[in-house]
Order: sequence, then structure tokens, then C-alpha cells
Amino acid sequence: MEKILVVGSGLAGATSARCLAEAGFPVTVLESRRHIGGNCFDFRDREGLFVQLHGPHVFHTSDIEIWNFLTQYTEWRHYEHRVTANVNGKLLPFPINLDTLGLLYGKTFTPVAMAEFLRAEVANSNFPSPPANFRDFIVSQVGSRLYETFFHHYTEKQWGKPPEKLSVEVAKRIPLRFNHDDRYFTDPYQGIPLKGFTEMIRRMLDHPNIDVHLETDYFDQREEYPAALTVFTGELDRFFNYRFGKLEYRSLKMDFVTVNKERYQPTAVINYPGEEPWTRVTEFKHFYGQEHPKTTLCHEYPAEKGHPYYVVYTRENLAKRDLYMGEVSKLEKMGGYIFCGRLAEYRYFNMDQATASALGKIRAWLKNRKA
Ligand code: UDP
Repeated sequence: MEKILVVGSGLAGATSARCLAEAGFPVTVLESRRHIGGNCFDFRDREGLFVQLHGPHVFHTSDIEIWNFLTQYTEWRHYEHRVTANVNGKLLPFPINLDTLGLLYGKTFTPVAMAEFLRAEVANSNFPSPPANFRDFIVSQVGSRLYETFFHHYTEKQWGKPPEKLSVEVAKRIPLRFNHDDRYFTDPYQGIPLKGFTEMIRRMLDHPNIDVHLETDYFDQREEYPAALTVFTGELDRFFNYRFGKLEYRSLKMDFVTVNKERYQPTAVINYPGEEPWTRVTEFKHFYGQEHPKTTLCHEYPAEKGHPYYVVYTRENLAKRDLYMGEVSKLEKMGGYIFCGRLAEYRYFNMDQATASALGKIRAWLKNRKA
């Protein structure tokens, strides 16, 4: 059988490797880091507490097919993610719902009262129509006061640029709730792999046709691994030697600390939309439901340098992405390459979307070969 190379062992890479291995191909996975699992890598720290080294990851999807696919490799701990925003020391449900406004303004909101309130807030705010950037979109939904309270500083910290530079798509990740639902995600399927994300991915890669090489950078060694198909999940611009210029990525500096108490904060994640230098604090115990006298948390400080965690949706980056994707389409059509995942497609994918993209592209490739 022809050899296949998969670059990266995150969800997109592991999904691709598994499907191709099951179709009978020998697959070599090259991973530049010391661990598999990409950015959803988790492990038990010295205390035995689960930690997500690259920041909080909660799986959620409305796609039963993706849920069923991953369920072959893990059992799930049912977990519904809840986030609060620390606004001047007060913890408010986030995304904004009836109770957020109730606690903020000290009165009860019905859905109708909330709609009327927001209409008045928006009417007193300035934004162009149609709104064409993050700031204007949020202001068009909630007005400038709530924008300032929950979004302005957080977004500036997270992306290191004015929210006016960011695409509406980023703003659309955050819903508005005219009810009391305080879950961060409303997808029907959500959870944390019972034994962790790394274990789930380890099982995906555990197949006689799959060979994983850690600490191996594809770009240093690509000639050594001739392959009939290369599935690339790394940085899109680097693959093409920055032909159309550099794409921006956003990184995070994670500051972990273990404290001597059972529970540190009421929700797994607390967002800090104010002047604090960090964006959010995660207490991982909530995810994994561990019983332990201690607990580990992490403060996130967004950073320009470091591992690429986020793609940055500005007009310039998205225009460059289109140029690169033109080249990707040509390569994919010839059948020797597949680009999938957040970094290789330069899309702000959630984990289910990265998995779905890989599954879709690999299945199409396999079908084409049979035809
Ligand atoms: N956001 C914000 N305030 C918050 C949470 C999110 O302004 O309290 C904005 C911010 O720009 C962020 C975006 O909404 O980058 C998307 O948030 P999400 O929670 O989806 O970010 P992720 O979990 O991917 O870091």
C-alpha cells in the first residue's frame, strides 16, 4: 500500500490518521511537539490533577455523526460548561441572559423586558448599518454600555488589537439569551473525555497501521518521508513558505498554580472583561469532576509569540487566507495533499469542526480513489 504522511497529531491529524489506517494505508504521523493531542493535550500534574496545558477545551457538537465517531475512542463525562464574567468583583452569567442583566441592574427581567431594554440601549448607540466588524456587531445587538462592560477590554486583550479590526464572525460566537439558560454551549452533545483528551487521541492513534514520531518537524524532514498523500494540519502560510505574506496567529501564556483548597471558583471559567492583564481563569477540576483536596487553575495571558493557538480574523488575514486556499485547492485536486484543521485551513474551528473537516476530506479522498 502507498505510504501516507500526516503532519500533526491534534484532532484533525488523529482523525485523518485513523480513517486512513482503517482503510488499510500505512500512516506515519509527524508531531513536532513532545506530546500528541495538539492544543487539547491534557495530563495529570504532580498532584494527580488533570490540567489542559494549552488552555480550556470543552467538547460540544450538534453533529451526531461527529459525536459517534469520537465515542468510538472514549467514554464521556457529561459536562455542561458554564462561564461567569467578573464585573467589578461581581460574578455574572455569560453569555448575557436574563439573570446577567438582572444582577447587573438589580431588577428582574422578562424576555420582553430584556428585548425592550436592549432596543433602547442600541437606539442610544452609534454603529453603521450593516455592522461590519466585531465592535459594531456587538453594539448593534446590545448597545455600547454592555459592549464596554463585557466585550471591549476582553477582546482587546485577547487579540491585541482594536475590536474594530476583527471580523463579525468572531462576535457571532457569543449568543444572547432571552432566557435563564446559563450554559456556554447549547449543543445537544457536550462533555469531557472520561480519561482525558490525550487518552482519547492516543486511542485514535493506536492502530497497527499508524506510526507516530514525536519531536519531528515536518519542515526539517519532508524529503525523508515520501508519501502518496500528505495530510497537513500545521500552519498554512509556513507550508507555502509565506508566499503571500505571513498570517497572524495568537498565542497564550498560561500561568498554572495549584492551591490548597478543594474548590477555588464557582464556575470552571471566569472571564475578566476589565483591566486585569489576564482574560480568564480556568479551574480544571470542574471539567473532570475529580475529588481532591487541592485544585489547579490557570490564568491566561494572550501573547503575540508562542505556539499558534488562534487564527486572527482580520480583513487582511482573511484576504491572505483566500490566496493560500487557492493554492490548497490546486494541490488537493491533484490528490497528493489534504489540508485540514484550524491552522491548515486558517479557520476559527471548534474541536468538532476540525474533526468534521478531517473526516469529510479523508472520506472524499478515499471515495475518489475507488471511483
Ligand atoms: N469575548 C468577549 N468577552 C467575553 C468572552 C468572549 O469579548 O467575556 C469575545 C472575545 O473577542 C473572544 C470572542 O468573544 O475572543 C470569542 O469568545 P470564545 O469564548 O468563543 O473564545 P475562545 O473560547 O475560543 O477563546
